[in-house]
Amino acid sequence: VILKDYITELFKESDMDIVEGAITLELPEGPNEVLLKNLYLSCDPYMRNRMNKILKIEGPATLLVGYVWGFTKWEEYSFVPSSRILFKIEHTDVPLSYYTGILGMPGITAYSGFFEVGLPKKGDKVYVSAASGAVGQLVGQFAKLSGCYVVGSAGSKDKFRFSVFVNTSKSFANNLILHASPPLHLNAYLSTTILQIRYFPEGIDIYFENVGGKTLNAVLLNMRINGRIVVCGMISQYQSAQPEGVTNLKKLITKRIRMQGFVVRDYYPMYPKYLEYVLTKIKEGDIVYVEDIVEGLENGPAALVGLFNGRNVGKQVLLVSRE
Ligand code: NDP
Repeated sequence: VILKDYITELFKESDMDIVEGAITLELPEGPNEVLLKNLYLSCDPYMRNRMNKILKIEGPATLLVGYVWGFTKWEEYSFVPSSRILFKIEHTDVPLSYYTGILGMPGITAYSGFFEVGLPKKGDKVYVSAASGAVGQLVGQFAKLSGCYVVGSAGSKDKFRFSVFVNTSKSFANNLILHASPPLHLNAYLSTTILQIRYFPEGIDIYFENVGGKTLNAVLLNMRINGRIVVCGMISQYQSAQPEGVTNLKKLITKRIRMQGFVVRDYYPMYPKYLEYVLTKIKEGDIVYVEDIVEGLENGPAALVGLFNGRNVGKQVLLVSRE
């Protein structure tokens, strides 16, 4: 079944074609690929979101003038199929690296997660984990700009010194919890008492979850009635075959907490709206963005691994070529 073209409104059966053709029964290349004979295929609402047109490159990429951002491989030059979604970059009066962060995927993640899933109100008490990272530093600033009280947590002194917190006028944090240096992350240290007595005596309205594990467990005890937990990520659990159990989930019931995950790609249609919101704020100095730029493709693997032991201070970027 083939989608004939991207769709802008309601989609119909006639938007799809059934095409017959021969396949070659050769084992695909690459160690992680498998050849499957499908017995059942899933039919889900999320598939509609994958039919939206954002920007389709027509013709060879060499004809494309200017810059785009989107998803490629880690390489110097990429052949990208013309059907791939790419966003044309209209604003070049900001650092182009921002399109990997504040003006790219992490930016829309922070924006959609905080505003669309968290539904903040002025005065809400907000807690953000991994608060100096690509997503977290934005959530904190959005919260502050929305009139919320916000506390962030980060894993090293450098993250205080070099990140948004250093500039007190722009700092998002009414308070910041410093936890142990990597690899001993906050989730290994955060106690219920610290959260409750020092930072949230009245409890937490919105928890923007980036790490999972013990942090989430402690937060659950400190949530307010009708609070929201925006589940963006659980990085502490990505590399463990047996992630730590979260034993306090029953608090969801008595505290009437809404805990909701989300996936950024569902929100790409909001990109133009987000861009309008954030560009003004960047240009007026109301939002700052900290990047950790590593140069050279060969340094990419180490930078990637560094995310999992907290080495990055701000958004981790890999510079391959300046022009
Ligand atoms: P960051 O820039 O925040 O980098 C990762 C940070 O996570 C590290 O610097 C470290 O910060 C913290 N960390 C790493 N390992 C652990 C651990 N074991 N326990 C606790 N903290 C740890 O990353 P991003 O901002 O890019 O991503 C943040 C989260 O958002 C991730 O979980 C990611 O998967 C998720 N995400 C979700 C999306 C979605 O669509 N739902 C889209 C994009 C991102 P520190 O030293 O301060 O602890």
